Amino acid sequence: MSNYLFDALTAYIQDQDKTFLETPEGACLTYRDMFARSAQYAGALQKLGVKAGDRVAVQVAKTPDALMLYLGTIRAGAVFLPLNTAYTPAEIAYFVGDAEPAVFVCDPLNADALAGIAQKTGARLQTLSADGEGSLRELADGMPTEFETVARDDEDLAAILYTSGTTGRSKGAMLSHENLASNSRTMVRYWQFRDDDVLLHALPIYHTHGLFVATNCLMMAGGTMLFLPKFDVEEVIRLLPKATSMMGVPTFYSRLLGSDAFTGDLVKHVRVFISGSAPLSAEVHREFSIRTGHAILERYGMTETNMNTSNPYDGDRRPGTVGFALPGVGLRIVDAKTGREVPVGEVGIIEVKGPNVFQGYWRMPEKTAQEFRADGYFITGDMGRVDEDGYISIVGRSKDLIISGGFNVYPAEVETVLDEIEGVAESAIIGVPHPDFGEAVVAVIAPREGVQLELEAITASVSGRLAKFKQPKKVHLEEALPRNAMGKIQKNVLRDRYKNDFG
Ligand code: AMP
Repeated sequence: MSNYLFDALTAYIQDQDKTFLETPEGACLTYRDMFARSAQYAGALQKLGVKAGDRVAVQVAKTPDALMLYLGTIRAGAVFLPLNTAYTPAEIAYFVGDAEPAVFVCDPLNADALAGIAQKTGARLQTLSADGEGSLRELADGMPTEFETVARDDEDLAAILYTSGTTGRSKGAMLSHENLASNSRTMVRYWQFRDDDVLLHALPIYHTHGLFVATNCLMMAGGTMLFLPKFDVEEVIRLLPKATSMMGVPTFYSRLLGSDAFTGDLVKHVRVFISGSAPLSAEVHREFSIRTGHAILERYGMTETNMNTSNPYDGDRRPGTVGFALPGVGLRIVDAKTGREVPVGEVGIIEVKGPNVFQGYWRMPEKTAQEFRADGYFITGDMGRVDEDGYISIVGRSKDLIISGGFNVYPAEVETVLDEIEGVAESAIIGVPHPDFGEAVVAVIAPREGVQLELEAITASVSGRLAKFKQPKKVHLEEALPRNAMGKIQKNVLRDRYKNDFG
């Protein structure tokens, strides 16, 4: 039977005895094993009563079995709903209550705490541990290794991913088979993934980056994954000589640079390093290229839209930019108030349209309607500009825009200047309430290890380079900036911490 996404992901697999994934402990799954294991998980879900269109919510550690559960869910015609392993039972209660899954799979260690939530919503509770054990595994082990994959069309839902939601309630982004398959097809071609690729996979798989960008792309190319449970600098350095490609968040790359053991020699077989999910500083881009000879390929996307833009594979990968709109993706930069496109070089809101763009927010038709223009463009909430050569730069989320004394201050511009100061490891610019200016620009800086930064020196280096209204009115030094698991700086945490700076 035709299942749009599963068929698309497996269409080019030529040799079923080829390794699909390998773990650092030496476990290995061939593509033949992948078909068999995903069939068993699909069978187990059906046995639990899962029907086409039902949600399967999953909060488990990153293991090969968890990945087989993802593929099994798709094959069973159901909707995969991965949840961050860091979510607390109170957060889980919201997601499970909102999504009403038929099955909820959690770690056996959390089963007691979550049983009540599952029961209240009518979800069947199953377990899968970090060692790949648990009730669902047992059930799957007893199922046939063949499964008649359930038919699903391009427009049917394949996944719901809740956005991290720093403000308000998290929203479930509904992604169709076509949203995921079309974007993977584009990425495979654009980044030239092939079946002889070995991708180092150290990202979590509850997020679009590790689950869809990395896994779908590699699988569609028929390549091999080095599947790490998490990012660990030493482990990554040990395995990189076996890899031809790596996808990561910017902190992966800055942490690699922090190790003396990370050398150009180690990565001579790597053909591409790809970065996304948060801005890669131009500094890290430059340092990486000096150390290894590799220009990191930065791309931009989000849960709701999959990947939107990318620096070129062949051609100039420009630090501080996210390249061009991907083939098939319509992208425009508009004035937030008028909705009209802004001229080259001017900052506006990024809007996108294409087969990659999601179907809307789960059970939030009004919210969905607010985020789309009448002509189908999705308002990303990211602000950016395009230069004369067509390269797009992200200047931050619109909610992070600072309006100080009536002037717009784009955090990324100030952060770029701060990051270039000797001894600065990373920086964040936030707006906090100010009695005169409405909002004041505040900098939070983390120095490089062992460096004593002088506040006067920071102020002095900024004053010659930025207009007065963009200069931070206060600078805080912190050992490290708060980041979420995807490497995004949690500006809401900083805004809260420093909200009383001027009042
Ligand atoms: P998520 O939905 O968790 O993947 O987060 C998506 C958001 O991450 C986007 O809306 C951007 O604000 C940000 N983002 C992703 N990639 C980049 C990038 N290369 N540069 C700057 N911001 C990025």
